[in-house]
Amino acid sequence: MEPGLSLIKQHMTALNMPSAAGILDELLLEAQGNDLTYQEFLYQLVAHELTTREKRRLEKQLKWAAFPEYKTLETFDINEQESLSQKQLNQLKELHWLEQAYNLVLLGPPGVGKSHMATGLGVEAVRRGYKVHFTVMGELVGLLKTQEITRSSKARLKRLTTSDLVIIDDLMFMAIDRHEANLFFQLINKFYGQTSLIITSNKGPEEWGEILGDSAITTAILDRILHKSEVLALDGDSYRLKHRQTIFGSQSNCKRSPT
Ligand code: ADP
Ligand code: MG
Repeated sequence: MEPGLSLIKQHMTALNMPSAAGILDELLLEAQGNDLTYQEFLYQLVAHELTTREKRRLEKQLKWAAFPEYKTLETFDINEQESLSQKQLNQLKELHWLEQAYNLVLLGPPGVGKSHMATGLGVEAVRRGYKVHFTVMGELVGLLKTQEITRSSKARLKRLTTSDLVIIDDLMFMAIDRHEANLFFQLINKFYGQTSLIITSNKGPEEWGEILGDSAITTAILDRILHKSEVLALDGDSYRLKHRQTIFGSQSNCKRSPT
């Protein structure tokens, strides 16, 4: 006796294949209509389950990563970046550096694409199955200070420390006091040798000491961050300014002839 479709679907669901169960009816009809072989039919069924599962995993991990904006390397125009070659970008995209716990420091003035590139590399890492988490320096300091009193801060920090790649955007953007610098050092020390960091900053490491105001802590932090690292200075004009929308538009159409 032929087993009923609903029984097959129940078994598929029990086997943790709900997506395949969901398209079974449709796929059976298609297979009958198009004379698919058993092998073709079976392949389509499992392929559907696999792609749906991968899509869901990606969505979940992207959410977990907390990127402020979804930016990819596909939309990153390398021609805007004279200081970086396509070959270098491809090499970074391979993520061997992540495997070897190297850090990446992206320096440059506002608008040159530091956050875009950091996020793009982060998205690439998520696609390849790494755990990534994005944070901004200001927010990070707040989390470190409230970790003992706020459960959500503790949870966020746990995400950071269990990631393979942590992005700290806008490092040293604002001055932090000695206590905060100490907390920051402890965190960097925890990452050291295990978790890769992408750090973006509009100030070079040589200026970080001024902002931290404590040369011993600064040296210790720099030591951990730069020991295995690649420092990239992004330059060029601000992409934001160059590609901005203006009220008056281009010279040619801003003057209307009176009629
Ligand atoms: P930064 O972090 O250096 O201040 P952003 O990464 O925020 O700069 O870039 C500012 C804006 O310009 C963003 O919308 C970003 O997507 C865009 N942008 C910057 N550089 C590029 C580039 N090379 N290709 C495409 N978009 C870029
Ligand atoms: Mg930025």
